[in-house]
Amino acid sequence: MAIEKTFSILKPDAVRRNLTGAINDRFEKAGLRIVAQKRIQMTEVQAQKFYEVHKERPFYGDLVKFMTSGPVVVQVLMGEDAIAKNRKVMGATNPANADEGTIRKDFAESIEANSVHGSDSAENAAIEIAYFFAGKEIVE
Ligand code: ATP
Ligand code: MG
Repeated sequence: MAIEKTFSILKPDAVRRNLTGAINDRFEKAGLRIVAQKRIQMTEVQAQKFYEVHKERPFYGDLVKFMTSGPVVVQVLMGEDAIAKNRKVMGATNPANADEGTIRKDFAESIEANSVHGSDSAENAAIEIAYFFAGKEIVE
């Protein structure tokens, strides 16, 4: 297995409830290292572009509204098999279907307000990291 970097967002529902430390603890206990992190207020245009693949889905407008409803924490996580490992620690998109002990099972409020985002492929991880971070902000 290779050492990878993946892109992560602590979504507005998690930040609003002051859960950033509790969620970061899950990442670190799983062996993922936070090599970049910042708190931002996503703009409407940023959120629209980030979720562009879902543009035709019925939930797109609400999702953009949710992602801009308050501050988020954007992160780069690094470690062995980081992309798949992060998805595993996050759990299924819908918390009702998420495995016991996953972030979404324990913290998500709904299928939309599901506390975290994690890249789903190496290609998307590279695109998403570059969308939010300059190279020099990532310190390994
Ligand atoms: P993410 O991309 O945020 O890591 P994911 O890959 O598990 O999550 P996607 O299918 O890419 O899920 O959907 C992106 C996001 O859109 C979900 O995380 C969730 O916030 C929202 N979403 C997905 N499906 C629905 C739905 N049926 N109703 C409302 N919101 C949804
Ligand atoms: Mg996704």
